[in-house]
Parts: sequence; structure tokens; C-alpha cells
Amino acid sequence: KPHVIITIGMAGAGKSTFVQRINSYLHSQNPPQPPYILNLDPAVAHLPFEANIDIRDTVNYKEVMKQMDHSDKRYNLGPNGGILTALNLFTTKFDQVLDLVEKRAETVDYIILDTPGQIEIFTWSASGAIITDAVASSFPTVVAYIIDTPRTTAPATFMSNMLYACSIMYKTKLPFILVFNKTDAQPHNFALEWMQDFEAFQLALASHSGSRDSEGEPTYMNSLMNSMSLVLDEFYKHLKAVGVSSMTGNGIKEFFEAVEESRETYISEYLPELERAR
Ligand code: GDP
Repeated sequence: KPHVIITIGMAGAGKSTFVQRINSYLHSQNPPQPPYILNLDPAVAHLPFEANIDIRDTVNYKEVMKQMDHSDKRYNLGPNGGILTALNLFTTKFDQVLDLVEKRAETVDYIILDTPGQIEIFTWSASGAIITDAVASSFPTVVAYIIDTPRTTAPATFMSNMLYACSIMYKTKLPFILVFNKTDAQPHNFALEWMQDFEAFQLALASHSGSRDSEGEPTYMNSLMNSMSLVLDEFYKHLKAVGVSSMTGNGIKEFFEAVEESRETYISEYLPELERAR
């Protein structure tokens, strides 16, 4: 059975470049393993790869936005409303999409879902959940969370990024890979250290300004972050982290090894959960 990779990441993290990179990596395997790619971002202007199924072929998000505005001025929801509505419309047809994917299941090893750059539209909408559950109940699935490594070197930023990833993992309940991207510009060893060594992270936090107020007491932010770290420690035990450069291709092989390993987790943790829910 093919493996589904759901790619999620903040705009600018390098999600498009990453998908392009894993696509060309799979094409260059011997024998080639061209993936089946679904683009779920209705607002993306240009994709650096060819999608087999493209939400933009089904719904015109600019037209959706225009029509909503025309029908009633009060529904002027702006771009995010347009993207969400487009995704909702696409989701009503997702059983047909799944049929198409099932037909190709014999011949492909990987199915890649590229999600909207407006990350919360996918992760916190009913449509995002419906699509995720639909693919994950049909195929082994893993979430690849793309992180902009150079932009996450500040302890507080790192923490909020991890909490975001954490919330997505607990919502989807799927195997999860943290993909530290752009390692050509910034190696991800600091991140691995913080994830493995709670005290190292606390130390990094403390050495940042503002860890004590004028009376020498720990500031609210600092004590909040210390307690959050305990939650994160538990979270880190449940995931894999890899460093990649979507630019140079470094680490992509290791990424696919992590995907392969996540199949076990899918079978031992996600499937029983699914059975229970039925
Ligand atoms: P998206 O918004 O998440 O889809 O991000 P893009 O793929 O458009 O990338 C955002 C920016 O990051 C672009 O300028 C890319 O060239 C750059 N970028 C992406 N991956 C890498 C990488 O591995 N290394 C470096 N140095 N830059 C990258």
C-alpha cells in the first residue's frame, strides 16, 4: 500500500520547495517512484511541481470570493474565507478524489498532500479533518511538519513552534515527523539538543533577557515556558525529527527512512484507535 505524506508548514517555511525536492528525489530513484501529488491550496499562484489532482482545477477561489461578496456584502470574508470555502467545496467531492487515488494505489508508493500555506485553514477546519481522516483510514499516513530552522533559533519562538506542532499531532493522532528545513543556512543541532535535553533548553531560556524581573523573581513568561517544557518533553517522545535542506537535497534520504519507520507507529497506534472509534 502507498504511504501518504501530509505536508504542513507555516508560509515561508519552504513547504513548496520541500515537496518539489521529495518529488524529484522519488523520480531519481532506481527504479523511479513518481509520487501521486494532491495540491489542496486553492490560493497558490505557482507550483514548482506538477500535481495529479489540483484543487484549483475544481474550484476557482477568486471566483468563490467574488460571488460571496456579491451575494451579500455582510459575507465579505476576505482571502482566508475564500480559501476555507474553496476547501469546503472541494471536500464535498473528496469521495471522488479518493476513488481516483485508490485506482492508482497499485502503482504508486507515495501520495503527497500539499496543504494551504495558511496553515490553520487546514489544521483547524472541519474540511481539513475530514480530508485527513479519509486518507488516514485508507492508507498508512504520516504528517510532515516543515519548520523554518533559521527562524526558530530563539527559545521562545522554538517553543511556540513546537506547541503548534504538538497541537496538530494530538488533533490528528497521526505519526509525526518534524522536518527542520534550510539546514544549509542553519544546522538543526541546537533544536535536537533542546529536544533531548530539557535542562539545556531551560538554560537557553534563562540566558535570554527577561528571565528575571527587577526583584529577581522569574518572570511570568519564563515560568510559563518552564511548565510548557514539561508538556513538550512528553510530546518529543512521540515523534521523529530530521534535518533537511530542500535547497541542496541534504537529509532527504533520512526523511524517507523516518517515513518508513512511521509505518510501524501507524499500524500499532493509529489503526487500533481507528478501530475503537468505529
Ligand atoms: P512555502 O511558503 O512554505 O511554500 O515556502 P517556499 O517553498 O516558497 O520557500 C520560502 C523561501 O525559503 C524561498 O525563498 C525558498 O527559496 C527558501 N527555501 C526553501 N527551502 C530552503 C532551504 O532548504 N534552504 C534555504 N537556504 N532556503 C530555502
